Amino acid sequence: MDKHILPTNPQNPLDSSQQAELALAVEWLRRNLPVALIDHLDMTWVMLAIDGATTEQIQRFFALRFNYAPMLVLGIYRAQSLGLTPEYTSEENDPFLIELPYDTDDAIKVIQGIQANTPTKYSLKYLNNENHFGDSASATGAARLGQKLLAQCPLMPQFLLIQADLRKFSGLAANGIWHISPAISEYLYADNHLVASPALQKIDAVAVPLLNAAQARITGWRDKNTGQEHLAIMIGKVNARKPVLTRIHSSCLTGDGLGSLRCDCGEQLQGAIRLMAANPDGGVILYLTQEGRGIGLINKLRSYQLQSDGMDTIDANHRLGFAADRRDYRVAAEMLQQMGITEINLLSNNPLKTKQIMLAAAALGGELKVNRISHKFPPNPHNQNYLATKKSRAGHDL
Ligand SMILES: [Zn+2]
Repeated sequence: MDKHILPTNPQNPLDSSQQAELALAVEWLRRNLPVALIDHLDMTWVMLAIDGATTEQIQRFFALRFNYAPMLVLGIYRAQSLGLTPEYTSEENDPFLIELPYDTDDAIKVIQGIQANTPTKYSLKYLNNENHFGDSASATGAARLGQKLLAQCPLMPQFLLIQADLRKFSGLAANGIWHISPAISEYLYADNHLVASPALQKIDAVAVPLLNAAQARITGWRDKNTGQEHLAIMIGKVNARKPVLTRIHSSCLTGDGLGSLRCDCGEQLQGAIRLMAANPDGGVILYLTQEGRGIGLINKLRSYQLQSDGMDTIDANHRLGFAADRRDYRVAAEMLQQMGITEINLLSNNPLKTKQIMLAAAALGGELKVNRISHKFPPNPHNQNYLATKKSRAGHDL
């Protein structure tokens, strides 16, 4: 099972302008624009995300390089999924580097094959014939840094990396490259650092009567660092002095909003609302913006395509380059803390979630007692394989 990155730095050492600089680098990547970074050996590298990159953007990027062939950074998950490496070298998504053809047109042909979920024959042939490029500490270091940055955008985590001859300075360069300052590069290199710690700003609660719970109030939090918005849905009269019936629910537009039968999210959400409405002490649903176990809505749809072609939900995540579960419960821990809740009866079938939320609360310097209550619904013909995978491969109590 994939190891979730644990929160180890609740106090983010970056100041607010450095946080903004980091966020802008992520924004640059999301738009398939080049970002320059400095590795731990003081070499300058430039990266470009390939998910969504046009041929023209890739050509412009290649024009920045000097001397060496460009590199394609695949994570271990994608590399293993394509049979390029026999097994995971670790539980983390280590970089897996491929040296691309020096000729731009040939390199683009390989890249286009990787932009597809199911690589083209040309790409696969090239990837299988070329040696894994693993003997440069500098390139591997830069690739790790690039992975941490790219993990902050809703793109597939594959990217291009070149060595470039650029003078070092921070801020936006005239040539359209975003340069990351040495202080931020250094911060990203430090082990176990998550790029953005939550910086939550709360708004006042407002009444929002729900279909199965007329007495419901919703309060929202905006995370200054990620721009994401999360909700706490309070049902009935919640008494924070007693263990609070709680559901920590990751958003699922297809399941929650559209009633998709591919998963059990909609049933779990509506089931939680009904239980809380019937409970004399009510309950709280933390509704977190993290679609598709943290891979985003579009990537979830890509994963569904791979599942329709026969993969299970975990192998499909790996094929796209993602860990099986990328969810982060730091936001939930902070929301509970701000609400003064110290003990919860958690509606969940996921023992790992219980552990993650307690660790996240401990990292904030608080203690959260979690009693897990199973929250099962009968399978349907469309989600029975999905639920079976959750049980057999993700350790869910189903
Ligand atoms: Zn769902």
